[in-house]
Amino acid sequence: MTDHSLDPKDWDAFRAEAQALLDHCIDQMQNAGDRPWQHVPDGLEARYAIGQTAAQGGDVMARLRDDVLPYHAGNTHPKYWGWVQGTGLTTDVTAGMVTAVMNSNCGGRNHGANYMERAVIDWARQQMGMPDTASGVLVTGTSQATVIGFSAARMRALGADVRKVGQGAVRLTCYAGQGVHNATRKAIELLGIGSDNLRMVPLIDGCMDIAALRAMIAEDRAAGAVPFLVVGTAGSVDLGLFDDFNALADVVADEGLWLHVDGAFGAWTRLAAEPYRSLSDGIGRADSIALDFHKWMYVGYDCGLALLRNEDEHRAAFAARPAYLDGKDRGVASGDPWFCDYGIDLSRGNRALKVWMALETHGADAFGDAITFNCTLAKVMADEVRAHDQMVLGRDPVSNVCVFSARGDLDAAAQSVLNNRIAVELQEGGEAVFSTTIIDGVEMLRAAIVNHRSTEQDVREAVRAVARLAG
Ligand SMILES: *Cc1c(COP(=O)(O)O)cnc(C)c1O
Repeated sequence: MTDHSLDPKDWDAFRAEAQALLDHCIDQMQNAGDRPWQHVPDGLEARYAIGQTAAQGGDVMARLRDDVLPYHAGNTHPKYWGWVQGTGLTTDVTAGMVTAVMNSNCGGRNHGANYMERAVIDWARQQMGMPDTASGVLVTGTSQATVIGFSAARMRALGADVRKVGQGAVRLTCYAGQGVHNATRKAIELLGIGSDNLRMVPLIDGCMDIAALRAMIAEDRAAGAVPFLVVGTAGSVDLGLFDDFNALADVVADEGLWLHVDGAFGAWTRLAAEPYRSLSDGIGRADSIALDFHKWMYVGYDCGLALLRNEDEHRAAFAARPAYLDGKDRGVASGDPWFCDYGIDLSRGNRALKVWMALETHGADAFGDAITFNCTLAKVMADEVRAHDQMVLGRDPVSNVCVFSARGDLDAAAQSVLNNRIAVELQEGGEAVFSTTIIDGVEMLRAAIVNHRSTEQDVREAVRAVARLAG
């Protein structure tokens, strides 16, 4: 008899190997502070080359330990503040195990993971202050959630026929603050609206200038365009700034437009203490919000969420069931809703369990505390920067982002070169990870703190390391 099953021939051996690997993984998480990013060694790619037989695969568990686990992206380290990268949670390990064992396809049908996803979405909806007519879907991240929000917005502007006949010659226009995340531009391009029709509204003190926004909408209408969408930002990429969502909601109400909020990380200030919570006041008035669990809710990659205020509009933009996907009253193919009717994907993994595990294990309050503390750390970093004569802040931190230059006494070009060099040396030395961004023509060091492992001491040591290299 030939056995084609890919299950282990020796379950006891698999059990022992898996348990040893689990121990190793937990050790790595427990000692995350000793394991900064490191450059992969020469020849690693060749070591990953895939063979034909199990014999060529060799001792796969040993290869995981030696060739795979050490070469992580570094964002599990307590002094990692580059870009906006979540740190992960121990509950991801256990949730990942259960998720793998259940192997649920969450596109539809009637099984537990879909009920859990609805519970996670409903929790997030309440945090954001959206009404219970709202709906949502877990996605890869804010980039995909943005496409989902914009698709529904376009359908409201052009009617349901757009799915059949396309957009035709209508010139839709969309408005966002200068410096909006590239996810907005990508979504506008993908939907065939064209990035020339993404109008950049000037900012006043980090918020979209409301008078300028109204003027641009009027001007575009007069020129024959169809304004349809305003994109607010909760937590800007460069400086962690917030639009005034109540003011934007008033504009879209007057103008009959759709308000989308890019809340990738900043939406979670909803869980924080004051003064941070009120940064996102009014976010619940949006027609759609795109946000991430994998950034400032710390859960492992990937998990984002599209929330739409009106479930009917959400479904109208995506629902479609060919005969083979027909829902039934009973059996596996029963249950409603099916998440394939709320987004792009048909087959989808179970992203809900790791979020549910995190919240049920720690409680939502613990996340609020961690988020508030990250903002406190940005202020601590700013204080450290002020204490060094030659360092200058790009701007006083508003939320969790601190941007500074190591040597404000040099000219812009020299500062940029130096800040870049410091960022790279700290990364390569495993000391700390800052990314860089350009503020007023100077490339500066930027810390976006979405890290529940960071301490005040970490922040002080990192700024001291910057000072050492700047000297
Ligand atoms: C990260 C980010 C995005 C993109 O989100 P992904 O989850 O990476 O797709 C969009 N907007 C802002 C403000 C972000 O920080």
